[in-house]
Amino acid sequence: MVRAAIWTGGLTAAEHAALAPGVPDGLDRQPDVLVVGGGAVGLATAVACRSAGLGSVVVLEREVRLASAASGGNGGAVSPDLHALTDPAEFVAFGRVSLALHRELDARWGTGLRTTRWLLLWPGAGPAQLPPGYQRLDPGTVRELEPDVALPDRVTPLLVTGQGAVNPQRLAAVLAGHAGAVATGVAVRGVDVTGDRITTVHTTLGDFAPGAVVMATGLVPEPWAAGVVQRRVKGHMLAVAPGPWRLSSVLSSEVGGGAPQPGGAIVCGGTFDDGDAGPEVRPEPVAALLAGLHWLLPAARGATVTHAWCCFRPVVEGRQPVIDRLPGTTNGWVSAGHFTTGVMMSAGTGRALAQWIGAGRRPAGLETFSLP
Ligand SMILES: Cc1cc2nc3c(=O)[nH]c(=O)nc-3n(C[C@H](O)[C@H](O)[C@H](O)COP(=O)(O)OP(=O)(O)OC[C@H]3O[C@@H](n4cnc5c(N)ncnc54)[C@H](O)[C@@H]3O)c2cc1C
Repeated sequence: MVRAAIWTGGLTAAEHAALAPGVPDGLDRQPDVLVVGGGAVGLATAVACRSAGLGSVVVLEREVRLASAASGGNGGAVSPDLHALTDPAEFVAFGRVSLALHRELDARWGTGLRTTRWLLLWPGAGPAQLPPGYQRLDPGTVRELEPDVALPDRVTPLLVTGQGAVNPQRLAAVLAGHAGAVATGVAVRGVDVTGDRITTVHTTLGDFAPGAVVMATGLVPEPWAAGVVQRRVKGHMLAVAPGPWRLSSVLSSEVGGGAPQPGGAIVCGGTFDDGDAGPEVRPEPVAALLAGLHWLLPAARGATVTHAWCCFRPVVEGRQPVIDRLPGTTNGWVSAGHFTTGVMMSAGTGRALAQWIGAGRRPAGLETFSLP
Protein backbone atom coordinates (compact mmCIF):
# COMPACT_ATOMS: atom_id res chain seq x y z
CA MET A 1 0.00 0.00 0.00
CA VAL A 2 1.50 3.30 -1.05
CA ARG A 3 0.42 6.26 1.02
CA ALA A 4 1.39 9.73 -0.13
CA ALA A 5 4.52 8.72 -2.02
CA ILE A 6 6.43 11.70 -3.34
CA TRP A 7 6.38 10.29 -6.85
CA THR A 8 2.84 11.25 -7.84
CA GLY A 9 3.48 14.95 -7.16
CA GLY A 10 5.38 15.70 -10.34
CA LEU A 11 3.25 13.69 -12.77
CA THR A 12 1.43 15.37 -15.62
CA ALA A 13 -2.32 14.92 -16.11
CA ALA A 14 -1.54 12.65 -19.08
CA GLU A 15 0.71 10.47 -16.92
CA HIS A 16 -1.98 10.20 -14.23
CA ALA A 17 -4.44 9.19 -16.95
CA ALA A 18 -2.03 6.59 -18.34
CA LEU A 19 -1.80 5.02 -14.89
CA ALA A 20 -5.56 4.57 -14.56
CA PRO A 21 -6.86 3.65 -18.02
CA GLY A 22 -9.83 1.55 -16.87
CA VAL A 23 -10.96 -1.00 -19.45
CA PRO A 24 -10.33 0.03 -23.07
CA ASP A 25 -13.20 -0.51 -25.53
CA GLY A 26 -12.99 -3.72 -27.54
CA LEU A 27 -10.35 -5.32 -25.34
CA ASP A 28 -8.86 -8.28 -27.22
CA ARG A 29 -9.96 -11.55 -25.56
CA GLN A 30 -7.45 -13.60 -27.56
CA PRO A 31 -4.22 -11.63 -27.38
CA ASP A 32 -0.97 -13.20 -28.45
CA VAL A 33 0.46 -12.34 -25.02
CA LEU A 34 -1.51 -11.71 -21.82
CA VAL A 35 0.46 -10.10 -18.99
CA VAL A 36 -1.11 -10.37 -15.54
CA GLY A 37 0.04 -7.57 -13.23
CA GLY A 38 0.58 -3.92 -14.02
CA GLY A 39 3.66 -3.31 -11.88
CA ALA A 40 7.11 -2.44 -13.19
CA VAL A 41 7.83 -6.01 -14.25
CA GLY A 42 4.52 -6.61 -16.02
CA LEU A 43 4.63 -3.31 -17.87
CA ALA A 44 8.26 -3.72 -18.94
CA THR A 45 7.47 -7.25 -20.11
CA ALA A 46 4.52 -6.06 -22.16
CA VAL A 47 6.66 -3.32 -23.73
CA ALA A 48 9.40 -5.83 -24.56
CA CYS A 49 6.89 -8.26 -26.12
CA ARG A 50 5.54 -5.47 -28.29
CA SER A 51 9.04 -4.36 -29.28
CA ALA A 52 9.95 -7.96 -30.14
CA GLY A 53 6.99 -8.17 -32.52
CA LEU A 54 5.19 -10.91 -30.61
CA GLY A 55 1.79 -9.67 -31.74
CA SER A 56 -1.03 -8.24 -29.68
CA VAL A 57 -0.40 -7.71 -25.97
CA VAL A 58 -2.92 -7.16 -23.17
CA VAL A 59 -2.00 -6.18 -19.59
CA LEU A 60 -4.49 -6.80 -16.76
CA GLU A 61 -4.07 -5.04 -13.41
CA ARG A 62 -6.50 -5.72 -10.59
CA GLU A 63 -6.17 -2.33 -8.88
CA VAL A 64 -7.69 0.82 -10.35
CA ARG A 65 -4.19 2.18 -10.85
CA LEU A 66 -1.07 0.68 -12.37
CA ALA A 67 2.01 0.41 -10.16
CA SER A 68 -0.16 0.58 -7.08
CA ALA A 69 1.99 -1.90 -5.12
CA ALA A 70 5.76 -1.68 -4.58
CA SER A 71 6.25 -0.63 -8.19
CA GLY A 72 4.80 2.78 -7.43
CA GLY A 73 6.27 3.34 -3.99
CA ASN A 74 9.87 2.19 -4.21
CA GLY A 75 13.07 4.26 -4.16
CA GLY A 76 13.52 4.36 -7.92
CA ALA A 77 17.18 3.29 -7.84
CA VAL A 78 18.50 1.52 -10.94
CA SER A 79 21.93 0.85 -9.51
CA PRO A 80 23.36 -2.56 -10.39
CA ASP A 81 26.93 -1.81 -9.36
CA LEU A 82 25.73 -1.20 -5.81
CA HIS A 83 25.15 -4.96 -5.62
CA ALA A 84 28.64 -5.93 -6.70
CA LEU A 85 29.88 -6.33 -3.12
CA THR A 86 26.87 -8.28 -1.85
CA ASP A 87 25.14 -10.25 -4.64
CA PRO A 88 26.10 -13.02 -7.08
CA ALA A 89 27.95 -12.05 -10.26
CA GLU A 90 25.07 -13.28 -12.49
CA PHE A 91 22.65 -11.01 -10.69
CA VAL A 92 24.91 -7.96 -11.08
CA ALA A 93 25.54 -8.78 -14.76
CA PHE A 94 21.79 -9.03 -15.39
CA GLY A 95 21.28 -5.75 -13.56
CA ARG A 96 23.88 -4.01 -15.74
CA VAL A 97 22.16 -5.24 -18.88
CA SER A 98 18.88 -4.00 -17.45
CA LEU A 99 20.33 -0.54 -16.74
CA ALA A 100 21.55 -0.38 -20.34
CA LEU A 101 18.02 -1.27 -21.51
CA HIS A 102 16.54 1.39 -19.21
CA ARG A 103 18.86 3.87 -20.94
CA GLU A 104 17.50 2.74 -24.31
CA LEU A 105 13.91 3.09 -23.12
CA ASP A 106 14.67 6.57 -21.84
CA ALA A 107 16.33 7.61 -25.10
CA ARG A 108 13.30 6.31 -27.02
CA TRP A 109 10.39 7.51 -24.93
CA GLY A 110 11.72 9.70 -22.12
CA THR A 111 11.20 7.61 -19.00
CA GLY A 112 13.08 10.24 -16.98
CA LEU A 113 16.05 8.02 -16.13
CA ARG A 114 18.75 10.11 -14.43
CA THR A 115 22.39 9.27 -13.88
CA THR A 116 23.38 9.09 -10.23
CA ARG A 117 26.52 8.60 -8.20
CA TRP A 118 26.57 6.92 -4.82
CA LEU A 119 28.67 7.65 -1.77
CA LEU A 120 28.81 4.42 0.23
CA LEU A 121 30.05 4.69 3.78
CA TRP A 122 31.30 1.15 4.22
CA PRO A 123 31.82 -0.01 7.82
CA GLY A 124 35.42 -0.57 8.94
CA ALA A 125 38.40 -0.75 6.64
CA GLY A 126 36.25 -1.53 3.61
CA PRO A 127 36.45 -4.43 1.17
CA ALA A 128 39.89 -5.86 0.43
CA GLN A 129 39.21 -5.74 -3.30
CA LEU A 130 37.09 -3.14 -5.01
CA PRO A 131 34.80 -4.12 -7.89
CA PRO A 132 35.32 -2.27 -11.20
CA GLY A 133 33.83 1.21 -11.05
CA TYR A 134 34.41 1.62 -7.30
CA GLN A 135 36.74 4.29 -5.98
CA ARG A 136 38.01 4.52 -2.40
CA LEU A 137 37.97 8.13 -1.18
CA ASP A 138 39.93 9.85 1.57
CA PRO A 139 38.06 12.15 3.97
CA GLY A 140 39.43 15.28 2.28
CA THR A 141 38.01 14.22 -1.08
CA VAL A 142 34.65 13.47 0.55
CA ARG A 143 34.64 17.00 2.04
CA GLU A 144 35.30 18.50 -1.41
CA LEU A 145 32.65 16.34 -3.04
CA GLU A 146 29.95 16.58 -0.36
CA PRO A 147 30.84 19.44 2.01
CA ASP A 148 27.70 19.05 4.14
CA VAL A 149 28.07 15.32 4.77
CA ALA A 150 29.29 14.36 8.27
CA LEU A 151 31.51 11.31 7.92
CA PRO A 152 30.83 8.85 10.76
CA ASP A 153 33.88 7.33 12.50
CA ARG A 154 35.35 4.08 11.25
CA VAL A 155 33.85 4.01 7.80
CA THR A 156 35.52 3.72 4.41
CA PRO A 157 33.99 6.08 1.83
CA LEU A 158 33.48 4.47 -1.57
CA LEU A 159 32.29 6.28 -4.68
CA VAL A 160 30.25 4.48 -7.37
CA THR A 161 29.35 6.47 -10.47
CA GLY A 162 27.25 5.82 -13.57
CA GLN A 163 24.16 4.45 -11.84
CA GLY A 164 20.53 5.31 -12.59
CA ALA A 165 17.35 6.52 -10.92
CA VAL A 166 13.76 7.04 -12.02
CA ASN A 167 10.51 8.35 -10.67
CA PRO A 168 8.90 4.89 -10.58
CA GLN A 169 5.41 6.19 -11.27
CA ARG A 170 6.59 8.15 -14.30
CA LEU A 171 8.38 5.05 -15.55
CA ALA A 172 5.15 3.06 -15.20
CA ALA A 173 3.12 5.74 -16.97
CA VAL A 174 5.54 5.92 -19.90
CA LEU A 175 5.78 2.13 -20.21
CA ALA A 176 1.99 1.85 -20.10
CA GLY A 177 1.84 4.00 -23.23
CA HIS A 178 3.84 1.38 -25.17
CA ALA A 179 2.57 -1.81 -23.53
CA GLY A 180 -0.32 -2.66 -25.86
CA ALA A 181 -3.84 -2.67 -24.42
CA VAL A 182 -3.74 -1.98 -20.69
CA ALA A 183 -6.76 -2.56 -18.45
CA THR A 184 -7.04 -1.66 -14.77
CA GLY A 185 -9.58 -2.92 -12.26
CA VAL A 186 -9.50 -6.42 -13.76
CA ALA A 187 -8.39 -9.28 -11.48
CA VAL A 188 -7.34 -12.71 -12.68
CA ARG A 189 -9.19 -15.37 -10.70
CA GLY A 190 -7.70 -18.57 -12.12
CA VAL A 191 -6.66 -20.45 -15.22
CA ASP A 192 -7.59 -23.63 -17.07
CA VAL A 193 -4.69 -25.78 -18.19
CA THR A 194 -5.46 -28.29 -20.93
CA GLY A 195 -2.59 -30.66 -21.61
CA ASP A 196 0.48 -28.46 -21.38
CA ARG A 197 -1.22 -25.19 -22.34
CA ILE A 198 -2.97 -22.48 -20.40
CA THR A 199 -6.14 -22.29 -22.48
CA THR A 200 -8.37 -19.95 -20.47
CA VAL A 201 -7.65 -17.16 -18.02
CA HIS A 202 -10.66 -16.38 -15.84
CA THR A 203 -10.98 -12.77 -14.75
CA THR A 204 -13.50 -10.44 -13.16
CA LEU A 205 -14.14 -9.23 -16.71
CA GLY A 206 -14.80 -12.68 -18.12
CA ASP A 207 -12.53 -15.13 -19.88
CA PHE A 208 -9.45 -14.63 -22.05
CA ALA A 209 -7.88 -17.20 -24.38
CA PRO A 210 -4.33 -15.93 -24.88
CA GLY A 211 -1.47 -17.40 -26.87
CA ALA A 212 1.05 -16.90 -24.05
CA VAL A 213 0.59 -15.80 -20.44
CA VAL A 214 3.08 -14.00 -18.20
CA MET A 215 2.28 -13.84 -14.49
CA ALA A 216 3.93 -10.68 -13.16
CA THR A 217 1.96 -10.58 -9.94
CA GLY A 218 4.74 -9.82 -7.46
CA LEU A 219 4.62 -13.30 -5.92
CA VAL A 220 4.18 -16.66 -7.65
CA PRO A 221 0.40 -17.16 -8.12
CA GLU A 222 -1.73 -20.23 -7.47
CA PRO A 223 -1.69 -23.04 -8.43
CA TRP A 224 2.08 -22.78 -8.97
CA ALA A 225 2.73 -21.33 -5.51
CA ALA A 226 2.49 -24.73 -3.84
CA GLY A 227 5.85 -25.43 -2.19
CA VAL A 228 7.24 -21.94 -2.92
CA VAL A 229 8.24 -20.11 0.27
CA GLN A 230 7.37 -16.50 -0.38
CA ARG A 231 6.25 -13.40 1.48
CA ARG A 232 6.17 -9.62 1.33
CA VAL A 233 8.57 -7.46 3.36
CA LYS A 234 7.30 -4.04 4.30
CA GLY A 235 9.47 -0.98 3.84
CA HIS A 236 8.93 2.61 4.90
CA MET A 237 10.14 5.61 2.93
CA LEU A 238 10.08 9.35 3.48
CA ALA A 239 10.85 12.55 1.61
CA VAL A 240 11.96 15.90 2.96
CA ALA A 241 11.46 19.27 1.30
CA PRO A 242 14.45 21.05 -0.28
CA GLY A 243 16.59 22.91 2.24
CA PRO A 244 19.85 24.79 2.79
CA TRP A 245 22.27 21.93 2.17
CA ARG A 246 24.39 20.67 -0.68
CA LEU A 247 23.98 17.03 -1.61
CA SER A 248 24.67 15.56 -5.02
CA SER A 249 25.44 11.91 -4.24
CA VAL A 250 23.07 9.24 -3.02
CA LEU A 251 24.21 8.50 0.54
CA SER A 252 24.19 4.96 1.85
CA SER A 253 25.47 3.76 5.20
CA GLU A 254 24.61 1.50 8.11
CA VAL A 255 23.06 4.44 9.97
CA GLY A 256 20.91 5.60 7.06
CA GLY A 257 21.01 7.42 3.79
CA GLY A 258 19.27 9.72 1.38
CA ALA A 259 18.82 10.19 -2.35
CA PRO A 260 18.79 13.78 -3.64
CA GLN A 261 16.03 14.43 -6.17
CA PRO A 262 15.79 16.94 -8.99
CA GLY A 263 14.55 20.12 -7.31
CA GLY A 264 16.30 19.43 -4.01
CA ALA A 265 14.02 17.08 -2.07
CA ILE A 266 15.68 14.05 -0.45
CA VAL A 267 14.13 10.58 -0.40
CA CYS A 268 15.17 8.18 2.39
CA GLY A 269 14.52 4.48 2.74
CA GLY A 270 13.44 1.88 2.74
CA THR A 271 13.40 0.16 6.04
CA PHE A 272 13.03 -3.61 6.35
CA ASP A 273 10.02 -4.19 8.60
CA ASP A 274 9.72 -7.95 8.25
CA GLY A 275 6.73 -9.24 10.21
CA ASP A 276 4.76 -5.99 9.94
CA ALA A 277 1.93 -6.84 7.55
CA GLY A 278 -0.21 -3.77 8.23
CA PRO A 279 -0.82 -1.21 5.50
CA GLU A 280 -0.36 1.76 7.82
CA VAL A 281 2.67 4.05 7.96
CA ARG A 282 4.21 3.69 11.43
CA PRO A 283 6.03 6.56 13.13
CA GLU A 284 8.99 4.53 14.45
CA PRO A 285 10.52 3.48 11.10
CA VAL A 286 9.91 6.96 9.72
CA ALA A 287 11.68 8.49 12.74
CA ALA A 288 14.59 6.07 12.27
CA LEU A 289 14.96 7.09 8.62
CA LEU A 290 14.94 10.77 9.58
CA ALA A 291 17.48 10.22 12.35
CA GLY A 292 19.78 8.52 9.84
CA LEU A 293 19.53 11.47 7.48
CA HIS A 294 20.20 13.94 10.32
CA TRP A 295 23.25 11.95 11.36
CA LEU A 296 24.81 12.04 7.91
CA LEU A 297 23.58 15.46 6.85
CA PRO A 298 23.36 17.70 9.95
CA ALA A 299 22.20 20.63 7.82
CA ALA A 300 18.95 18.69 7.22
CA ARG A 301 18.04 18.71 10.95
CA GLY A 302 15.35 21.32 10.37
CA ALA A 303 14.06 19.63 7.23
CA THR A 304 10.31 19.25 6.80
CA VAL A 305 9.05 15.73 6.11
CA THR A 306 6.66 16.15 3.20
CA HIS A 307 5.86 12.50 2.50
CA ALA A 308 5.97 9.23 4.42
CA TRP A 309 4.76 5.99 2.90
CA CYS A 310 5.25 2.26 2.88
CA CYS A 311 5.00 -0.64 0.45
CA PHE A 312 5.88 -4.32 0.32
CA ARG A 313 8.76 -6.10 -1.40
CA PRO A 314 7.82 -9.45 -2.94
CA VAL A 315 10.31 -12.10 -1.82
CA VAL A 316 10.70 -15.69 -3.01
CA GLU A 317 12.99 -17.42 -0.53
CA GLY A 318 16.35 -18.30 -2.05
CA ARG A 319 15.77 -16.40 -5.30
CA GLN A 320 16.22 -12.84 -6.39
CA PRO A 321 14.25 -12.94 -8.63
CA VAL A 322 12.25 -15.78 -10.27
CA ILE A 323 12.07 -15.63 -14.08
CA ASP A 324 10.85 -18.99 -15.30
CA ARG A 325 8.35 -20.98 -17.26
CA LEU A 326 5.30 -22.05 -15.29
CA PRO A 327 5.72 -25.77 -14.54
CA GLY A 328 3.54 -28.04 -16.64
CA THR A 329 2.92 -25.42 -19.31
CA THR A 330 4.49 -24.56 -22.63
CA ASN A 331 2.83 -21.14 -22.90
CA GLY A 332 3.03 -19.78 -19.34
CA TRP A 333 5.78 -17.77 -17.61
CA VAL A 334 6.24 -16.15 -14.23
CA SER A 335 8.40 -13.32 -13.02
CA ALA A 336 8.16 -12.82 -9.27
CA GLY A 337 10.10 -12.19 -6.08
CA HIS A 338 11.98 -9.15 -7.31
CA PHE A 339 12.52 -8.09 -3.67
CA THR A 340 14.68 -4.92 -3.51
CA THR A 341 15.40 -4.48 -7.21
CA GLY A 342 12.30 -5.02 -9.36
CA VAL A 343 12.46 -1.62 -10.98
CA MET A 344 16.14 -2.00 -11.75
CA MET A 345 15.58 -5.49 -13.18
CA SER A 346 12.32 -4.75 -15.00
CA ALA A 347 13.76 -3.84 -18.40
CA GLY A 348 16.11 -6.83 -18.47
CA THR A 349 13.41 -9.18 -17.21
CA GLY A 350 10.96 -7.98 -19.82
CA ARG A 351 13.41 -8.48 -22.65
CA ALA A 352 14.45 -11.92 -21.39
CA LEU A 353 10.83 -13.06 -21.21
CA ALA A 354 10.06 -11.68 -24.66
CA GLN A 355 13.06 -13.58 -26.05
CA TRP A 356 11.96 -16.77 -24.29
CA ILE A 357 8.40 -16.49 -25.56
CA GLY A 358 9.58 -15.67 -29.08
CA ALA A 359 12.23 -18.37 -29.39
CA GLY A 360 10.66 -21.01 -27.12
CA ARG A 361 14.05 -21.50 -25.42
CA ARG A 362 15.33 -20.02 -22.18
CA PRO A 363 17.82 -17.25 -23.00
CA ALA A 364 21.28 -17.45 -21.45
CA GLY A 365 21.81 -15.76 -18.10
CA LEU A 366 18.55 -16.82 -16.45
CA GLU A 367 19.73 -20.15 -15.03
CA THR A 368 19.90 -18.91 -11.43
CA PHE A 369 16.44 -17.32 -11.58
CA SER A 370 14.46 -20.55 -11.87
CA LEU A 371 11.55 -21.45 -9.60
CA PRO A 372 12.74 -23.12 -6.38
C1 LIG B 1 10.51 0.48 0.36
C2 LIG B 1 10.94 -0.13 -0.95
C3 LIG B 1 11.96 0.48 -1.71
C4 LIG B 1 12.35 -0.11 -2.91
N1 LIG B 1 13.33 0.52 -3.66
C5 LIG B 1 13.67 0.00 -4.85
C6 LIG B 1 14.62 0.67 -5.67
O1 LIG B 1 15.12 1.73 -5.33
N2 LIG B 1 14.93 0.11 -6.87
C7 LIG B 1 14.37 -1.07 -7.29
O2 LIG B 1 14.71 -1.54 -8.36
N3 LIG B 1 13.46 -1.71 -6.55
C8 LIG B 1 13.11 -1.21 -5.33
N4 LIG B 1 12.18 -1.85 -4.56
C9 LIG B 1 11.65 -3.14 -5.02
C10 LIG B 1 10.61 -2.96 -6.11
O3 LIG B 1 9.67 -2.00 -5.72
C11 LIG B 1 9.91 -4.31 -6.38
O4 LIG B 1 10.87 -5.31 -6.56
C12 LIG B 1 9.08 -4.19 -7.64
O5 LIG B 1 8.18 -3.13 -7.53
C13 LIG B 1 8.33 -5.49 -7.93
O6 LIG B 1 7.60 -5.27 -9.12
P1 LIG B 1 6.57 -6.31 -9.65
O7 LIG B 1 5.97 -5.72 -10.87
O8 LIG B 1 7.19 -7.65 -9.72
O9 LIG B 1 5.52 -6.45 -8.45
P2 LIG B 1 4.38 -5.46 -7.91
O10 LIG B 1 4.83 -4.06 -7.83
O11 LIG B 1 3.90 -6.12 -6.64
O12 LIG B 1 3.28 -5.52 -9.02
C14 LIG B 1 2.46 -6.67 -9.20
C15 LIG B 1 1.12 -6.19 -9.70
O13 LIG B 1 0.31 -7.32 -9.98
C16 LIG B 1 -1.01 -7.03 -9.60
N5 LIG B 1 -1.71 -8.29 -9.39
C17 LIG B 1 -1.45 -9.23 -8.45
N6 LIG B 1 -2.30 -10.26 -8.57
C18 LIG B 1 -3.13 -9.97 -9.61
C19 LIG B 1 -4.22 -10.64 -10.19
N7 LIG B 1 -4.64 -11.83 -9.73
N8 LIG B 1 -4.86 -10.07 -11.26
C20 LIG B 1 -4.44 -8.86 -11.75
N9 LIG B 1 -3.40 -8.18 -11.19
C21 LIG B 1 -2.75 -8.72 -10.14
C22 LIG B 1 -0.84 -6.22 -8.32
O14 LIG B 1 -1.99 -5.45 -8.01
C23 LIG B 1 0.38 -5.37 -8.65
O15 LIG B 1 0.04 -4.12 -9.20
C24 LIG B 1 11.76 -1.30 -3.36
C25 LIG B 1 10.71 -1.88 -2.62
C26 LIG B 1 10.31 -1.31 -1.43
C27 LIG B 1 9.19 -1.93 -0.66
